[in-house]
Amino acid sequence: MLYRNYGKTGWQVSALGLGCMRLPRDVNEEKGEAPVNREKAFELIRYAVDNGITYFDTALGYHSRTSESVLGEALDGGRREKVQIATKQPFSEMKTQDAIRRNLESALKNLRTGYIDVYLIHNIQKHSWEDIKKRNVIEEFERFRSEGLIRAIGFSYHGQYPTFKEILDFYDWDMCQIQQNFMDTEREATEEAIVQAGKKGCALVIMEPLRGGSLARPPDPVKALYDARMQPVEWAFRHLLNYPQVSCILSGMTTLDQLKRNIEIFSQPDAVSGCMSEEDKKMLARVKAKYESIVTIPCTGCEYCMPCPQGVGIPEVFSLYNEGNMFGAFDQPRRGYMWTTRLRHEASRCAACGACEKKCPQGIEIIKNLKIAHEALKGWLE
Ligand code: SF4
Ligand code: SF4
Repeated sequence: MLYRNYGKTGWQVSALGLGCMRLPRDVNEEKGEAPVNREKAFELIRYAVDNGITYFDTALGYHSRTSESVLGEALDGGRREKVQIATKQPFSEMKTQDAIRRNLESALKNLRTGYIDVYLIHNIQKHSWEDIKKRNVIEEFERFRSEGLIRAIGFSYHGQYPTFKEILDFYDWDMCQIQQNFMDTEREATEEAIVQAGKKGCALVIMEPLRGGSLARPPDPVKALYDARMQPVEWAFRHLLNYPQVSCILSGMTTLDQLKRNIEIFSQPDAVSGCMSEEDKKMLARVKAKYESIVTIPCTGCEYCMPCPQGVGIPEVFSLYNEGNMFGAFDQPRRGYMWTTRLRHEASRCAACGACEKKCPQGIEIIKNLKIAHEALKGWLE
């Protein structure tokens, strides 16, 4: 296993981290449940520790609030001291200052530990950032750190670069966690976020390196463009390992086979920063362009169709549907749809009023396509 510096903390962490949001589950469609298969999860987590992985990422909300306790039980009895645990508290759970502390205490209990290595504000969003500042959440976290309950303070982020930069510059964060992969260099926080976090000495943890696993299974026209020296999954990881600023790459591994394969990739002596040649980068650019050409609904995300009187997030729905088609895999978009519809309404709420279609410059048949997208995206069980 390769290890990397963790920003200015002086720690070293494994370059591969285990993300505990995709633990093995027992899906029961009839009951509408998908609880974690604890025995399989324990086996996975313990194998990871015993084979050099030292970084474990979880959150209060993962797996219907059970992920922390599964990780805690798996590490109990000698493995906890060998690893760094990162967990997160979302602003939506910070109803009062007391609640912030209670949530931390609950995380400590679930994780069966006296301290958390990295405590993050989970998924800061543009609309919640002002309230987070007003509510002095960071000061509260600093108190936890001075009491020895947490060791480092960070945030995770899924939005666009300008808000990321504002958050990054607001405070001397120990770490930040963003989505990046070779498809997202100009999307989400963008490649520029990597550069800026590095300049500040802020440890950088990457999530979704394989876009929910979809980059590991390219459709045939994309597959044909890869340099056959390595598998697509290895190229995707190498793209990120190439950045010296990246401390740890989280992968949500579900099976022992995936874990073993990834440990092998992250143990190659040449999988270090600067490992991508100019030819390698050009090859990945061709792969990216091919993926992007596989778009089913020509929605540009301009939002001229919004707002919808029924609260349907039209561009988000089309983006998720296109993503599923682009990668030939709908698991990740379906999960995204579940989260999106907690803020906006499902596509099935469309009342066919036609207001949006009149405003769409692309002439998209929105009503018809929303129905198609909803059928493909509905039904994710968390
Ligand atoms: S047609 Fe459907 S999606 Fe479009 S504005 Fe009306 S209700 Fe919303
Ligand atoms: S107006 Fe058309 S192109 Fe623009 S976001 Fe809406 S559906 Fe997409």
